[in-house]
Amino acid sequence: MDRKALFKSLIQTLPEDAEREGLKDTPQRADEAWEHLFRGYGQKPEDLLTVFDNEGYDEMILVKDIEFYSTCEHHMLSFFGKAHIAYIPKDKIIGLSKMPRLVEIFSRRLQNQERMTTQIADALKELLDPKGVAVVVEAKHLCMMARGVEKQSSVVTTSALKGLFKQNSSTREEFLRLIRE
Ligand code: ZN
Repeated sequence: MDRKALFKSLIQTLPEDAEREGLKDTPQRADEAWEHLFRGYGQKPEDLLTVFDNEGYDEMILVKDIEFYSTCEHHMLSFFGKAHIAYIPKDKIIGLSKMPRLVEIFSRRLQNQERMTTQIADALKELLDPKGVAVVVEAKHLCMMARGVEKQSSVVTTSALKGLFKQNSSTREEFLRLIRE
């Protein structure tokens, strides 16, 4: 299907002239924006993430404040915020710079925040078989903010805890304290 033609049809559902100066190239631009917003579909974690042997490090590895932009599958409006990812390695580790790319893979899709959080945690678990994984995602949703729903500045927090982060309350508390700092 020709997405540009569909965007033009969508504009024409409004009392607008789709050919006017400001709108005539909009289907093209919107098409390019979609390419970007939804490029996560073409990517798999195992393609991106180079795994290394762990050389005896057995404490938490945490990457916090990873910015992301995703698109809510219910309204096709953006939700965006920060992801915090931690794991405790067993035999394998990954490059720290790969954490944001892991978030990209799952955020650049039609998503809900709960699923995105779980998918990030599951992917790390699958790739590294670590002793524990923790993912917390904090996001604002345009579908709450822009549609005039009351809680306009509220932040939605979701989490996925596995292994030691689930079983051991002091590990979990350390993680939660570190992401609040
Ligand atoms: Zn929504």
